[in-house]
Amino acid sequence: MKEKIWLSSPHMGGNELKYIHQAFDENWVAPLGPNVNGFEQDLQAFLGAEVKVSALSAGTAALHLALIECGVQAGDEVLCQTMTFSASANPIVYQGATPVFIDSEKSTWNLSPFFLEEAIKDRISKGKKPKAVIAVSLYGMPFQVEEVLSICQKYNIPLIEDAAEALGSTYKGKACGTFGKFGVLSFNGNKIITTSGGGALVCHSQEEKDKAVFLSTQARDEAPHYQHSHIGYNYRMSNITAGIGRGQMEVLPDRINARRKMHAFYTELFKDIRGIQLLTEPNEDYFSNHWLSVIHIDEQLVGFDREVLRLAFLEDNIETRPLWKPMHLQPVFSGTPYYGEQVAETLFNNGLCLPSGSNLTEADRQRIVKVFRKVLRKL
Ligand SMILES: *Cc1c(COP(=O)(O)O)cnc(C)c1O
Repeated sequence: MKEKIWLSSPHMGGNELKYIHQAFDENWVAPLGPNVNGFEQDLQAFLGAEVKVSALSAGTAALHLALIECGVQAGDEVLCQTMTFSASANPIVYQGATPVFIDSEKSTWNLSPFFLEEAIKDRISKGKKPKAVIAVSLYGMPFQVEEVLSICQKYNIPLIEDAAEALGSTYKGKACGTFGKFGVLSFNGNKIITTSGGGALVCHSQEEKDKAVFLSTQARDEAPHYQHSHIGYNYRMSNITAGIGRGQMEVLPDRINARRKMHAFYTELFKDIRGIQLLTEPNEDYFSNHWLSVIHIDEQLVGFDREVLRLAFLEDNIETRPLWKPMHLQPVFSGTPYYGEQVAETLFNNGLCLPSGSNLTEADRQRIVKVFRKVLRKL
């Protein structure tokens, strides 16, 4: 069996262990400590725009706290991009609120501003103004930031930006994760940098950050004993995992370059193939970290479908994966309101995520080329 080529696997930089050793030497083995503070500062310096970052146990935890800070409560409605990972939508339900799903548009494959506004108007006419909007920068591609923001502003609804896949992406030179009222980052094992598991909430004031830290450490009031006036959570990042994060931040620019190199490789591979569309920045306002390189296959034009290609790669021990299955098609969300046509559904039916890791070698790329050429030859 050939060695497995992964879609996206962890890629350590080298200094992660140094920070972990420091934590052990100082006995900071806890959900706080110098690495947590240091990692937060590294992220703030990287994101710019005077943000305040709170390091948490997961991106999902960050989404949950963002909803709480936006005042989302039981019975409320929250609008959410339908094509995404379930973690974007689950925290809405944690709060007892109802998700309302919105289709994608064709240029970024992310939240459709048209259907966003349709949904807002319709929900208001039905008597309930949405409490928040969740827009996702999938696969690293920024959503239509200006259009989405201006609709949120027009109706005065806070935007939560799920930038879990988009650390290092920018729109008009400004970092993804900094556009919404809150931004969400993830450092799970398959993301562009990893802490093995972890996330962060990007805030725009010290007060919002303090509240996130308070809620993520069991909401302890100031008192010598344990005193609580709020329901709290155990969501803070540990000083050990933050040590991995500090090491990873040192190599983040290299990781972005390497992922973009993979995207350039696929651009070249598919350039003469009619019917294979690689998700690419629509214009120079967009800069994607290209966390994953993803394609849409038009079976009529290419003569094979997504599954043929996926199985051919699998046979060579190369991992690929269909795109995120839209939330409104998930059994767990059946019956929830949905606004759109079939853009997300079509992308799901015909789309494939390709190996995109920053640690892939020239030999790996040659194997990918070989399998792809073999599929073409069989036609
Ligand atoms: C990974 C991911 C999350 C969740 O982050 P975790 O750190 O795994 O909890 C949320 N949204 C999207 C789009 C993701 O890809």
